[in-house]
Amino acid sequence: MTRKTRVLVVEDEQSIRDGLSDVLTYHGYEVEAVDSGEAGLDAILNGGFQLVLLDVMLPGLNGFDVCRQARDAGSTVAILMLTAKGSEDDVVEGLRAGADDYVTKPFSIRELTARVEALVRRTSARQSKSIAFGVWTVDPATLTATCNSKGGDSCELTPRELALIALFVRERGRIVSRRMLLKEVWEMSKADEVETRTVDMHIAKLRKKLDPDTTLITTIRGAGYRYVG
Ligand code: CA
Repeated sequence: MTRKTRVLVVEDEQSIRDGLSDVLTYHGYEVEAVDSGEAGLDAILNGGFQLVLLDVMLPGLNGFDVCRQARDAGSTVAILMLTAKGSEDDVVEGLRAGADDYVTKPFSIRELTARVEALVRRTSARQSKSIAFGVWTVDPATLTATCNSKGGDSCELTPRELALIALFVRERGRIVSRRMLLKEVWEMSKADEVETRTVDMHIAKLRKKLDPDTTLITTIRGAGYRYVG
């Protein structure tokens, strides 16, 4: 028997909170719901959740604060932000704060459950075995990369960086387009300018950590990136 996936809902509006809880429970998730950022952070740090649906607009500690503080404390839980406006600023701030994905309110139940399923699937890699990435050994469970030479230097990765690495390793030697990265790592079907820049920003950060001389991930002008490992 497989254990149910545990989902935390952090939403101050009762009707939305109850609606989300009902829908997710109906779809087979084990749901816990809280109505404030403080209670949400507390529940996240006490662990045991695979995914958090985190509203941005909360009284007191807002969704960005909760996300940042959870990541700072080392939480690797999957975080799906519920943004009210869907503005570029909200999206970028959410991703910078360490969110894995976002859904814009008002959302349809179908869209939300699809995003939840996809995110659970994508982030379950965090519990899988280690990945060889060039001179690095990446441990998905702890989100760390340890260098096989250089005296075993190690550095921390974000969940998104782990997903990028997993995709590059899978597609070793092949060109990976920004569109494909957006589709698979960000679960976005259509890309706009902002989202393309987001990909480049994440690749730049990943290179800074693991590939400062860009020998692992090369840029293919006009096409995307290629992992040559
Ligand atoms: Ca709210």
